[in-house]
Amino acid sequence: MLFLFLDYDGTLREIAGRPQDALPDADLLRLLRRLERSRNLRPVIITGRSIRDIRRMLPLRRTCFIGTHGLEFARGTGTVRYLLPVAKAKSAVNRICAELKKWIDGSFTLENKTVSLSLHDRLAPPARAARARRKLMELVRPYVKRGILDLIRGKCVLEVRPMGAHKGIGVEFVLDRAPGGAAAVAFGDDRTDEDMFRVLNRRKQVTVVVGKRKSAALFRVPSPRLARKILSSLHCALGTDRDVLSPTLQSQKFPGRKFLHRALGAD
Ligand SMILES: [Mg+2]
Repeated sequence: MLFLFLDYDGTLREIAGRPQDALPDADLLRLLRRLERSRNLRPVIITGRSIRDIRRMLPLRRTCFIGTHGLEFARGTGTVRYLLPVAKAKSAVNRICAELKKWIDGSFTLENKTVSLSLHDRLAPPARAARARRKLMELVRPYVKRGILDLIRGKCVLEVRPMGAHKGIGVEFVLDRAPGGAAAVAFGDDRTDEDMFRVLNRRKQVTVVVGKRKSAALFRVPSPRLARKILSSLHCALGTDRDVLSPTLQSQKFPGRKFLHRALGAD
């Protein structure tokens, strides 16, 4: 069994100006449905978005979701569970959102994801964006000091999440419950994906960064379009009805990296 840990924004599709506009196209939905129906592949969408939000965009029944940077987990349409305690973070996020709203206008998107928040400023004039960022940092600082919240910068976004939450936690949660010998490959484009890359590199699995950013990932593909092409070839190679992976995994002959090196056409 091969787990495919897939970030969404910037990895499976180009980043949109506003997060709510980043809908999947029909080809992407078709690809993800083919992956989730495969006997050998286990796609897991792993995103900074909340599970509620990502499931609205990707209505997939058999895919697992890890949301809010490793904090939430759900199978398909199943119940969402938190992987860390979140009570203190929830009330802090509400307080910060209420105050921050006074400092931003319609050129920003502020997402209150209950246990985390994102401030998107891609469409805001630079001076106004800088001012809002400073304000958010000032509001978050006391909670950082108390070990409740953490603040991270992404591409035109500031994310506030519970201290200790990162995508590596979600990856470990899934792999620790997987049958022995399960392999994994992860695709991601942003700084927040480095935590899952580090966990998977340590476990001798395959990591792929999408885009030009400096990364701990073992491989690089230039664009979401090419990432999708590789996933499609992985599906052609491994996604058949026959269980082609188990025998090799069980006999310890799974060529792991070598196989994926070839599939990814690595240099
Ligand atoms: Mg991303």
